[in-house]
Amino acid sequence: MTPGPVEVDPRVLRAMSYPVLGQFDPEFTGLMNETMEMLREVFMTGNQWAYPVDGTSRSGIEAVLVSLIEPGDKVLVPIYGRFGHLLVEIARRCGAEVVTIEKEWGTVFAAEEIVSAIRAHQPRLVAVVHGETSTGRLQPLEGIGDACREIDALLVVDAVATIGGVKVATDEWGIDAVIGGTQKCLSVPSGLAPVTYNGRAEAKLLKRKRIERGLLTGDEAYDPAHRPILSNYLDLSQLQDYWSPARLNHHTEATTMLYALREGLRLVLQEGLEARFARHRRQEAALVAGLEAMGLALYGDPSCKMPVVTCIEIPEGVDGESVRSMLLDEFGIEIASSFGPLKGRIWRIGTMGYSCSKRNVLLTLGALEAVLLRHRCKLPAPGAAVQAALDAYRTD
Ligand SMILES: *Cc1c(COP(=O)(O)O)cnc(C)c1O
Repeated sequence: MTPGPVEVDPRVLRAMSYPVLGQFDPEFTGLMNETMEMLREVFMTGNQWAYPVDGTSRSGIEAVLVSLIEPGDKVLVPIYGRFGHLLVEIARRCGAEVVTIEKEWGTVFAAEEIVSAIRAHQPRLVAVVHGETSTGRLQPLEGIGDACREIDALLVVDAVATIGGVKVATDEWGIDAVIGGTQKCLSVPSGLAPVTYNGRAEAKLLKRKRIERGLLTGDEAYDPAHRPILSNYLDLSQLQDYWSPARLNHHTEATTMLYALREGLRLVLQEGLEARFARHRRQEAALVAGLEAMGLALYGDPSCKMPVVTCIEIPEGVDGESVRSMLLDEFGIEIASSFGPLKGRIWRIGTMGYSCSKRNVLLTLGALEAVLLRHRCKLPAPGAAVQAALDAYRTD
């Protein structure tokens, strides 16, 4: 019950035991096309490009940033938790001149605050986290894409923790490039990073693309007005050529991981996006009802809580790590701590994808209550947590 990696549906695990196909086998390229089609639905986009980058989610973030940021570009990053700092760190390595705005952890920006920073700083690119897993907050994105278009900047969104669990409306919100994750709400093992990007983002890639004229070498192989993409492995202009009908050779595709992603996406679409989002909200409501009945305080501003991550203030005098170990050792339930300023201050419970079930929520509440009693915590009414969750399920 962490905010990733989460349990994987047995159907996905079975798909991973299929024989390994070559990356140009027509049977395999058929599976690639089906995966692209399903990714477009999950990203809620009509973009031509929607495919996975091989590597964990941050490979997708790096691929998007290294391909879209030219050295010297001004990049704006609104930071409200740990993963905002990751965007800064990657953008700096891409040679960006990074400008940041920061919010206290536990809150998010009003969209207008980001919009006015965009107008004030006039960046070439804005990179923002949608669901900040470290603090359990969800950043509203409506209106930011329009502000980027006004000044012809690109909007990049890290939706690693939200895709498949919370609405990510790529086209409706005017996002130019989105990165998703597999091991969170899609419940696929970590190892691929689904990305999507639109024609505005592609135009930037193509300007920086290596000109394949065979005879050209070094700097001559690139449009002199633009800086070449500083990575080969993560160069989206080359990756899209492999995902296009041209099937230009790049890397050896991780075929087993693609079976997993394809099966994971099939499960998402069979459930239906709306039904899936509703399931995540329902489990969240029961979990929160149970935690509150235990007298625990939730961390952060409730108006921007991420439905798939619930953060709890560790009660005064309780050893948070000892509680986590006992949950794992005695009950086989793993919950997370957090990072930086929140280390030792909060626990984080994920209700993501396949792990997000009534059974898991009830078992987690019952186990946490038992463990807290063992840690001599004064609970207002022992037994109340599971009852409150059962009531929440009954009334929804
Ligand atoms: C988990 C996570 C990442 C990093 O993912 P990896 O798969 O570990 O590379 C990035 N951003 C957010 C918001 C995340 O939750």
